[in-house]
Amino acid sequence: MSDADTLFERIIAREIPADIVHETETTLAFRDIQPQAATHVLVVPKKRYRNVAELAAADPQLLADVIATAAKVAELEGLTENGYRVVFNTDSHAGQTVFHVHAHVLGGEQLGHFGR
Ligand code: ADP
Repeated sequence: MSDADTLFERIIAREIPADIVHETETTLAFRDIQPQAATHVLVVPKKRYRNVAELAAADPQLLADVIATAAKVAELEGLTENGYRVVFNTDSHAGQTVFHVHAHVLGGEQLGHFGR
């Protein structure tokens, strides 16, 4: 990808500090700096794709790794008993601001319905 590195490449490279929750060979999970729920963790593949559609098309195994890490984070954060949400914001209507695909893992409290 030809764009300049995003913030998340710099977090993966440990150039910017982050509160890391879990790491695998292919993924990294760290706390969102502006949490939207009691627990809010981001899961990124170490290899950059712009959004979930590009990741799914190019590397389904890596998408599966991201989901497996999201599930592991839910377990580590004690979210499995009451449930949690996994969200991929994709492009402008969804408000995506960092163009390195990331799953938001949200939970730890009752979440509102989503949409508008
Ligand atoms: P939005 O900014 O609308 O939530 P995204 O889905 O692209 O759009 O999410 C980017 C997320 O990255 C945001 O939730 C934001 O709070 C988070 N974020 C921004 N900078 C950092 C950082 N340095 N460390 C951790 N999370 C960050």
